[in-house]
Amino acid sequence: MQDISQHIVERLRALRRAEGWSLDRTAQATGVSKAMLGQIERGESSPTVATLWKIASGFRVPFSSLFEPTLVEGGEAATVASRQVVTGGAGGGDAAGMTALPLFAFDPALGFELLVVTLAAGASSASAPHAPGVVEHLVVVEGELEVAVDGAWRRLAVGEGLRFAADRPHAYRNPGAGAARFHDVVHYPGGPGVAPARAGEDSASGR
Ligand code: MN
Repeated sequence: MQDISQHIVERLRALRRAEGWSLDRTAQATGVSKAMLGQIERGESSPTVATLWKIASGFRVPFSSLFEPTLVEGGEAATVASRQVVTGGAGGGDAAGMTALPLFAFDPALGFELLVVTLAAGASSASAPHAPGVVEHLVVVEGELEVAVDGAWRRLAVGEGLRFAADRPHAYRNPGAGAARFHDVVHYPGGPGVAPARAGEDSASGR
């Protein structure tokens, strides 16, 4: 956990430097308060999943780019799930009981990352819009999940999936008594050799 926080501290500083953004400008772009950004950069506060998403979306970088790079051996990327866990705030509020971690980090040649997201029983998380054109494809692998896009909720069981334009408000919640887990392929348009995303259309897939 310590390594991860330190990596995020360095990434946040590097992103601000690259953009030439002050804490004020960064707060404006990400929706994360200047005070919280300062605490993260000083290593005084561990950001929640929701905060990390706001930072990634504000800088228009993939979520997984905030983490240490995926190990690559002989051209094959190995998942490093057990090493990189981010936990939602313990004190209640948005994204409490939520964890998200990259199974496969973003690869610019492929244009997507694969995350695994877990919600504790009863947990919910509202997500601000991601960068323009970002599309999520999620598949439930454990428990039950409810997803809202533009305020309309749908319930998904294990093996069911949903693709939606994630550059608008959306939310996840776990209505069950046990944990809910889903895999989330997040596609970012505009990478080299990557066709523009078809944003604006939802499609669901059953088992
Ligand atoms: Mn999202």
